[in-house]
Amino acid sequence: MQYLARDMHSPAHPSDLYSIPVQFVKGIGPRKSALLDRAGIRTVEDLLLHIPRRYIDRTTVLTIAQLRRAAETGTGEPSPAGENSAAADTRREFTVVGEVRSFRLLGFGAKSRFLLVLGDRTGSLQCVWFGGVQYWKKMFNIGETLAVSGEPGMYGGALQFVHPDIDRMTAPEGGEEGRGSTQWVDALNTGGLVPVYPSGQELARAGLDSGGFRRVIAGALKTYGALFPEMLPLAVTEARRLVPARVALQSVHRPASRGDLGEALRRLKYEELFRFQLKLAMKRRMTREESGGIAFTVKSRLARSLVDSLPFVLTRAQVRVVQEITADMASPHVMNRLLQGDVGSGKTVVALIAMLIAADNGYQSVFMAPTELLAEQHFRTLRRLLAGSPVAIRLLVGAQRSALRRDVLEDVRAGTAQIIVGTHALFEKDVAFARLGFVVIDEQHRFGVMQRATLRGKGANPDVLVMTATPIPRTLSLTLYGDLDVSVLDELPRGRKPVTTVLKSDADMASVAAFVREQVAAGRQAYYVYPLIEESETLDLKAATVHYERLQKEMFPGLRLGLIHGRLPGEERDAVMGRFARGDIDVLVATTVIEVGIDVGNATVMVIENAERFGLSQLHQLRGRVGRGSDSAFCILVAKKWIAGRAGRAAARAQTPAADQGALAERRLAAMVTTSDGFRIAEIDLQLRGPGDFFGTRQSGVPEFRIADIIADAPLLDEARVDAFAIIESDPILARAEHRPLLAYLRSRYHDEMKLLDVG
Ligand code: ADP
Ligand code: MG
Repeated sequence: MQYLARDMHSPAHPSDLYSIPVQFVKGIGPRKSALLDRAGIRTVEDLLLHIPRRYIDRTTVLTIAQLRRAAETGTGEPSPAGENSAAADTRREFTVVGEVRSFRLLGFGAKSRFLLVLGDRTGSLQCVWFGGVQYWKKMFNIGETLAVSGEPGMYGGALQFVHPDIDRMTAPEGGEEGRGSTQWVDALNTGGLVPVYPSGQELARAGLDSGGFRRVIAGALKTYGALFPEMLPLAVTEARRLVPARVALQSVHRPASRGDLGEALRRLKYEELFRFQLKLAMKRRMTREESGGIAFTVKSRLARSLVDSLPFVLTRAQVRVVQEITADMASPHVMNRLLQGDVGSGKTVVALIAMLIAADNGYQSVFMAPTELLAEQHFRTLRRLLAGSPVAIRLLVGAQRSALRRDVLEDVRAGTAQIIVGTHALFEKDVAFARLGFVVIDEQHRFGVMQRATLRGKGANPDVLVMTATPIPRTLSLTLYGDLDVSVLDELPRGRKPVTTVLKSDADMASVAAFVREQVAAGRQAYYVYPLIEESETLDLKAATVHYERLQKEMFPGLRLGLIHGRLPGEERDAVMGRFARGDIDVLVATTVIEVGIDVGNATVMVIENAERFGLSQLHQLRGRVGRGSDSAFCILVAKKWIAGRAGRAAARAQTPAADQGALAERRLAAMVTTSDGFRIAEIDLQLRGPGDFFGTRQSGVPEFRIADIIADAPLLDEARVDAFAIIESDPILARAEHRPLLAYLRSRYHDEMKLLDVG
């Protein structure tokens, strides 16, 4: 990103809202600005982009008498969904504007509740908040005007809101502009949509509750609104029919109508997504242009003889993906490619073909797995595929004896090792490569851990292939991997039957075991997967062991059982795994360590206990462990009775948190039963869990958007991507006049990132 870095140090333009501290805004002193800082609002621009969470619609404001009628009869107009997000707002929510008549704190400690009575001409309304609301005593003043929004209920004959949203219509005591401003009451009364801003306890206490935000943002808009930059080229705003930036900004804070609001939000979301895609486009362009990549000769004897020796023909998808990869390898630019393929789609062979091409060109390849266990398995698989070939393959993991490790390191340094399989340990300081040319990274969602810089430090600029069996929904991969080229293995080898999946309750364990015994009697093998549940590993180990012993004694006397878990030392784990692979174990009891990697064709049953505890993608991975042979295979999901049965569904309809968990689990399990399409499952998982949790506890790297929602706004994301990539294609360094504002924008905002891009 040299061209951007060059004059990065020129001082920001004084009218650049990005460079004006939020403290410059009227009404924001040092205390508020310190709190705002913690909330990520540091500049005037941040403040102006503090977007309302929802709006109070004049038409949904009821009198208290009307509210009482609505509560008693269960009728009344529900509020139109006023949320920014696409999440459907199905609550019957109403707003009442009234004066504070009284308030008091009742009870003690966790049992305390705060009761506030609001009144208008037509009656009075109780508002109740439970627990931890001590400080609220100081928040309100008798006689001040509040707008409260919630679902009405009747409690002991009194009309009540429990935990309503409150919105202060007059300035709070001690607010920097003092009390008594009624402009918002007026605004509310003259119709239109009144914005409700996200806040927090601390901000609210300092006067920046929603009403406080409304005041300072209105002030900031007056002073600075005209400086809000238009960064989008005219061609884009016209083609996409986007309202101008300033219009969008005004309307999002004070919309004249729902229609205007929709347009404003669309424009702001688009811009946010566009900026992001623009960075990706530049980043990709940079890696593409990067010289010093290796131009491999892709005609390879080694690869050819591998393909000829395989006991199967490549699928069409494999052939296509190999072509995509070899085209990249042949070019002098560095390859950065993501290979997505469902479990069993045959990624390993594809990777091996590429590594053999590298070997024929005199280059070394590494194959990096996320765990030692998987590294060892890949090593075995690759070695088997390479049986009879002259290619030297070595394993490098931390657990190796030091004499062996020294020996491997020497081979790597000397270049006699052509394919090196391992974990992150491959990139430690003491590992020196003779001629590293190709890197395969398996099951690593983001190779942030292993930056290109590290590779260059090893004196190489290899092509990189990242592989994942977690199908990533398109919307996510466009943001997460937007700078990579993507190949997809969207076809399973022929002859694979879908795994029959059923849902059982834990009360059915005996019949499940009977089924497993039948399969074993027919010469097949089974997995029993048991989730890690306890907080501590020790307890977990104990639970797994106890469980194993019970299965052996009660369900499978006379069968050969094996136990494998994460705490088992490498060799023992391998020994157990080896026995299972050879058929010396009938039922393998395991914790999720078998999630990826194990490949035993004779195993036809996967029993997953406490299935409700697993994520959808994880369940899909586990299921992928069976059905790898040509026999019919079964996946039996065992869940708590109340989740598996009708009770679960009934409970799920009640809106308690526990039931929400149940409802989620139920939907996950239902999806597993109805589809075996990994991409479909990933989409559902994403919807259920949201982008942040999609990758579980792993550092997700999913960018956070302030306004846009990558799931709900997927179509907009597509448009923004197309536009951003087209611009970089035609004007890579944003030199054209119409792109100057873009360049200026990127320069000021992404100074640090742009520098990073130079490395990444
Ligand atoms: P993935 O890593 O994508 O889950 P693997 O590469 O482990 O899948 O392949 C799964 C199994 O399918 C392996 O036993 C592999 O040898 C086999 N396989 C790969 N490609 C084909 C093919 N085209 N036809 C039949 N079997 C295949
Ligand atoms: Mg694999």
